[in-house]
Amino acid sequence: MVSRKFFDRIDSIQLENITKKYNDNFAVRDLDLEIQGGELLILIGPSGSGKTTTLRMINRLIEPDEGQIVINNQDIMQFDPVKLRRNIGYVIQDIGLFPHMTIRNNIGLIPKLEGWSQDKITEKVKGLLDFVSLPPDQFLYRYPNQLSGGQQQRVGLARSLAMDPPLLLMDEPFGALDPILRRQLQDEFFRIKQELGRTIVFVTHDIEEAFKLGDRVAIMDGAELIQIGKPEDLIFNPENELVSDIVDSNHKFKHMDALHVKDLMTPMDDKYIFDANLKVSDAISRMTEYNMELGVVFNGSDFKGTVQMVNLLKYEKDEKLHDVAVPSTVFSPTHFVSLALSELKNKNESFAVVMENETPQGLLLSNEVFLKLI
Ligand code: ADP
Repeated sequence: MVSRKFFDRIDSIQLENITKKYNDNFAVRDLDLEIQGGELLILIGPSGSGKTTTLRMINRLIEPDEGQIVINNQDIMQFDPVKLRRNIGYVIQDIGLFPHMTIRNNIGLIPKLEGWSQDKITEKVKGLLDFVSLPPDQFLYRYPNQLSGGQQQRVGLARSLAMDPPLLLMDEPFGALDPILRRQLQDEFFRIKQELGRTIVFVTHDIEEAFKLGDRVAIMDGAELIQIGKPEDLIFNPENELVSDIVDSNHKFKHMDALHVKDLMTPMDDKYIFDANLKVSDAISRMTEYNMELGVVFNGSDFKGTVQMVNLLKYEKDEKLHDVAVPSTVFSPTHFVSLALSELKNKNESFAVVMENETPQGLLLSNEVFLKLI
């Protein structure tokens, strides 16, 4: 079958020197932005800073006055805009389902326009409804007004996935929901994001949402890109006052200087402690049983280092842990968290063992510390 897609996967998207003006006002000005294939990139910033305009230029709902947008080395102006949009899922706050069409027909509209058979459409829609946790036997033939706001939002997501687009553009998709439902959908979306494996550009004004879902976060202000990076880059090295206000709106990080490693470590119980004479194969079995990625190796009371599941799989089964354990960074429980995190970042390590008087107390996992703080 000939693929109707311009691209099956996204390697990269480049926005080069993009400017869009309305009369004399810049909606977006001199924007250079690279979106990496497979990442979820957040656009965040004050209202009117140019986020929606940026997003809509990627699927040509808006065309820039200057500059180029390049997907997988091809200028998107070379594509037919309608076909381009069928390769790009688009989810907005007010998802605009057609009121007189069933959920099946709403989700299956584009497949129908693409000439799919009725059976194939029904199968696809059922699969998508399952994916967004709406049982097909209950929802397939309902009408939009028979659905709650959260359910409609799920249908919007399902509809955007109908053509299996490798790229999704999402504009405040959870913005209209009440806070509890919002958190719930974010959690669910976080789960399906992993399964989807798509490239996603996501506009929000909620920094918690940004940190929860985003691989990288781009901060816009006054039609310009101010800073882009991983959440920790923005928190620890904000470009200006606006960035620090946005990323630390609850002023949690401003107080981080006062926190100690013991406040944020993951306490260590015995299952994390491995005898240095244990064989690699036994360590792997135990880690699998307890769903652990990491173990701390001791020979009697001597700390020998750590082992990680990803590395253990590379060794011979009969090797002993004392031969494969690697030295690890160790902090005392009273060490300052801010210093500990920057030391880990400088060493490009993601965890450290917390010890007091040569007794293990816990693990400091930089990812988890981060999630506890936001
Ligand atoms: P954001 O999504 O960050 O809230 P937008 O991209 O929607 O910002 O808008 C950026 C700026 O461009 C705002 O000042 C907005 O008023 C202006 N703008 C957007 N669309 C139009 C339009 N169709 N006509 C005139 N001005 C517009």
